[in-house]
Formats: sequence, C-alpha cells, structure tokens
Amino acid sequence: MTNETSCYLGAAGLAFAHTVVDQLGENELAPTPPNYELWATYRSGAYPDLSRDIEAMLGDGQRLTPELCEDLYERHFAPTRSFEQLVQTGESIAQELAGALAHLRDVNASAGGYAGELETAASIMETAADPSTLRALVRGLITETRAVAARNRSLEERMEDSSRQMETLQLSVRQATQEAVTDGLTGLANRRHFDRSLVRHIREASRDGQSLCLIVFDIDHFKQVNDTWGHPVGDQVIRYVASTLRGGAPPRALAARHGGEEFALVLPQTDVAEALTIAETLRQKIRARTLSRKSSGELIGTVTISAGVAVLKAGEGRESLVRRADACLYQAKKAGRDRVIGEASSSAAAA
Ligand code: GH3
Ligand code: MG
Ligand code: MG
Repeated sequence: MTNETSCYLGAAGLAFAHTVVDQLGENELAPTPPNYELWATYRSGAYPDLSRDIEAMLGDGQRLTPELCEDLYERHFAPTRSFEQLVQTGESIAQELAGALAHLRDVNASAGGYAGELETAASIMETAADPSTLRALVRGLITETRAVAARNRSLEERMEDSSRQMETLQLSVRQATQEAVTDGLTGLANRRHFDRSLVRHIREASRDGQSLCLIVFDIDHFKQVNDTWGHPVGDQVIRYVASTLRGGAPPRALAARHGGEEFALVLPQTDVAEALTIAETLRQKIRARTLSRKSSGELIGTVTISAGVAVLKAGEGRESLVRRADACLYQAKKAGRDRVIGEASSSAAAA
C-alpha cells in the first residue's frame, strides 16, 4: 500500500500530479477524474495490465482518444470497483451475523438463568407449605416468565431484521457479481469475463474432445459514424450491434464486447461450418436494418460488420486462438469489409 501511494505524497506527489495533468493536456484529454485516475495509475505503474495496454496503443502510434480512455477505464477500474463492493458486502454480512449471534448468546444465557430460577423455585415448593411464600414465589415466576417472553420477542424481531438485511446484502452481492462481468454500455460480457471464460471453454473443449469456435466481429468504418453523428449515436450503434449479436447467437454462446467496437462470440460444441453460418447470419441481420437517430428519428443508414472465425486446434491456448480469429478478421477487412472469413474455409461469405 505504501508503495502504491508514496508517489502521491509531499512535494514529489504534487510534481507528479502536475506531470499527470500536463500529459493529459499533451494528449488532448480533459483532466476529468476518470482520465486523471487512469493516467496517474498508468504513470505510477501500479496496474501492469493497464500499463501494458496503454503502451501497446502508444507503440502502435494510436492516439488516446476520450473513447479509448473510457474503454480502458471500464476495463481496468470498473471490475475493481465491483470487487471492492463485494468485499464490503462480505464484511457487512460478517458483521450482521456476528451481531445476530451475540444477541442469540445473550438470550441463551438468560434462558439458562431462568431454568436455574425454576429449579430453585421447585425445591422451595417441595419444602415450604406456607401459602404466602408460595404466592410470592409464583408472582416472582410470573414476572420472570414475562421477561423471558419479552426477550424471546426481541430475539424474533432481531432475527427478522437480520434476515431482511441478509436479503438486501445478497441482492447487493448478486448485483456486484453481475457488474464485475458485464460491459456497462452493452450489457454483454466484458473483456475480463471473456478472457476468463474463453480459457475455461478451451479447457473443457480439450478435455471433452469437443469442437470450439471463436468469432470476432468489428464494426466497419465505425470512426465515420462517430465523426458524422457524434459519440452518443456511435454508442447507440454499438448497442444495436451488441443486442443483435446477443439475440441472434445460440444460447450456448458467450457474447462479449472485446474492445471499443469489437465483439466476440465463443461457441462451444460448434464446428467451423456451423460457426461460419452463425457469423454470416449475424452479419446479414446487422446490415438488414436501417438505423435512425433515437432522439430525432433522423435516418442514419445501415451499418456493416466484418468477422473472423477460428476453430480451436489441439493443445492451443487462448491467445493463439484469438490471434488466429483476429487474423481472419483482418483478412475480411482487407478484402473489402462486410464479410466473414474463416481460417478453415477459404470460401469467404462476401456481401
Ligand atoms: P475499420 O472498418 O477498419 O474497423 O474502421 P473503423 O473506423 O471501424 O476502425 P477504427 O479502429 O479506425 O475506429 C474505431 C473507432 O471506434 C475509434 C474509436 O474512437 C471508436 N470507439 C471505440 N470505443 C467506442 C465507444 O465506446 N463509443 C463510441 N462512440 N466510439 C468508440
Ligand atoms: Mg476496431
Ligand atoms: Mg471497426
């Protein structure tokens, strides 16, 4: 922790903050809190994954646009936030349980005291015949019994309260878990979830000797959509493509947002011919609709996507499979876009 925060302390910390703001300016990025956090974390080297992604982009000569920053922020910080929420919820559950248990112990202890009093009263009754002694004894027992009943009622209320709290906490855990794996803009699986799920699917496919395919999609000339219509319409187009992919993919598929305007479908138990058909059907579905601006109804036109399809090879890992699907996607772009190319079949399904 000290290492992570030390660069923000004292005069050196202030100089660091100035550098961060200056570098945001040099990259034409507004010093918004998320951009500042992104850049400061990158400069501090605290998140190696983030540093690797940024350096890869800069190395490719890419400009860090506000959209790219949003995407980086979503990928690297949003899951951490949800994780923190999960940890906090876990702590609240533990506290709630500890409180309820302490109350239960109190009630148990006083129940033990009540049993002792009953035993004492029983032994007095056996020896004392005096009615006034017996009356006093019974009165005492009645008072004590009422107190026990009141304690039991309070325990019941405490338990009901606890159970309500637990339901709320459970909901919060479910929500945080969901958020940690979901892309905020599209509701599809996020990149982190995609990476992990793909590793698991590869392991299962290899173990069971099943065929596994990966399709990567990329919206064609998407920059033009942003440039012509603005970022919010770009977002609307991304959401349209995402929902068409999710709606048109078979239930066993995992649909993910792989990057800004890139998507992926993991298809377990699917051979390459079937995957090509799925990709081609989705390509046609997406281009079939004429989109209009939500706010004004103004016609935007149609969008097209290109896709690359790869089938898992024996002994292959995630990175290699993704690389091969990406290479097919690159071929589809090079061949004119709006088409599907699979490694196994050279026959491209062209527009
Ligand atoms: P190609 O056909 O070769 O794929 O061209 P392209 O214009 O689609 O590809 P390019 O990689 O040049 O541009 C992708 C653009 O997507 C750049 C980036 O600003 C934009 N983008 C990335 N994420 C988002 C997002 O979440 N929302 C919006 N509106 N734009 C985004
Ligand atoms: Mg792209
Ligand atoms: Mg594109």
